[in-house]
Amino acid sequence: MSVSVALRLPSIDSLLRHPACQPLAERYGRDALLTGFRQLLDDLREAVVAGQLTAIEISPEALAGRVAERLALKQRSQVRRVFNLTGTVLHTNLGRALLPEEAIDAVQLAARYPLNLEFDLASGKRGDRDDLIEGLIRELTGAEAVTVVNNNAAAVLLTLNSLGARKEGIISRGELIEIGGAFRIPDIMSRAGVRLHEVGTTNRTHARDYEAAIGPRSGLIMRVHASNYSIEGFTARVPTSELAVLAHRHDLPLLEDLGSGSLLDLTRWGLPAEPTVRQALLDGADIVTFSGDKLLGGPQAGVIVGRKDLIAKIKKNPLKRALRVDKLTLAALEAVLGLYRDPDRLAERLPSLRLLTRPQAEILAQAARLQPALSQLLGEGWTVTAQPALGMIGSGSQPVARLPSAALCLRPQVSKRLRGRCLLNLEAALRALPIPVLGRIDDDALWLDLRQLDDEPAWLAQLGQLQT
Ligand SMILES: *Cc1c(COP(=O)(O)O)cnc(C)c1O
Repeated sequence: MSVSVALRLPSIDSLLRHPACQPLAERYGRDALLTGFRQLLDDLREAVVAGQLTAIEISPEALAGRVAERLALKQRSQVRRVFNLTGTVLHTNLGRALLPEEAIDAVQLAARYPLNLEFDLASGKRGDRDDLIEGLIRELTGAEAVTVVNNNAAAVLLTLNSLGARKEGIISRGELIEIGGAFRIPDIMSRAGVRLHEVGTTNRTHARDYEAAIGPRSGLIMRVHASNYSIEGFTARVPTSELAVLAHRHDLPLLEDLGSGSLLDLTRWGLPAEPTVRQALLDGADIVTFSGDKLLGGPQAGVIVGRKDLIAKIKKNPLKRALRVDKLTLAALEAVLGLYRDPDRLAERLPSLRLLTRPQAEILAQAARLQPALSQLLGEGWTVTAQPALGMIGSGSQPVARLPSAALCLRPQVSKRLRGRCLLNLEAALRALPIPVLGRIDDDALWLDLRQLDDEPAWLAQLGQLQT
């Protein structure tokens, strides 16, 4: 049975004068409050006309309360913190690496004050923004010269365009990869003005394949770290050291796009081996490109290192100006790189490395500790267990390697037919929390991988607001 209501709404003027609205006017401004009331009253009238509204409290206090909710929601930042419990540590869609405190301080300083971004304090003359990080990167990689751009995709584009425009770029068919989104090596090459000359086959490419491709139109040889897939079985690949000798015999530069790349050998922390920038340079690559926010653990950036004459050419390209990094990035990058000077303490100080190296036993203990709270919260309809789980590094680093981790496994106790709906509902409810919680659905359960849950109090505090 529907109840009709006679809706007699107070005037906006009287609402604005009401004492309940004074704090709101102060907080959000009179204009925003006025607009808020207009929209609210319009919506209420519409709802009455549509017959959706059967009972409503229309005291000024109640209306002020509703407007306050709307304004708070509107004012909420679109950039939201989330809990990444997906099991993927360097998650591209969730912002990849978390910055260490040292870098956060550096960003604050750079944001708050004027700085010597392109100003040489010794000579009083104009400087180059790359100078701020060149010394450190040279020290950490052994490179002759360095330049930094907005991300690694930009680094690859700029390098190809600077060194290979209107010439041919020779690359193995096994390395013509798509990284995600629209980043495909053949497309980037063509946008850079480099003609693709593919050699070998998907699984096997030999030195003689490269050799046969070299001719008067050749401009460079490129090697791409196949970061997000692996070819196993009957495979052959020319080692960088051998490819470098071949390239140099023909006076061609060898570019190596390492993708994630690492400044240190990660096996010292029990992580899967990832090629290091220093090794690629030692092997003879003339230019190496890598990301700042993947395994390096810094801000989004693309680092280009290598031969001095080639870096000079890259820096002269007008595209460099379009792709350069801002002061906040440089400040953060310098601070992160500074931590690499002390590898012994790096895993304590660099959040991404700390998270990647968290022992499974510790995560499992955390899962066991949190299990009762979640089990109680979800009640009868769900079984909650603490379980070993497999996570991954993410961002194309070691796609097949799995990080032994642990998770809370939430399994709905309903018929198979309803399971999918139940899981999606819970997933949505977790996303609707003040700090959204993101897990992953797999094997008819929702998994919350706890490797990255280090703010346990904040996580627990909001769970009571879960609406399932
Ligand atoms: C990730 C990746 C890129 C792109 O790097 P961004 O920093 O995401 O721009 C390029 N090449 C390889 C091999 C990669 O793994």
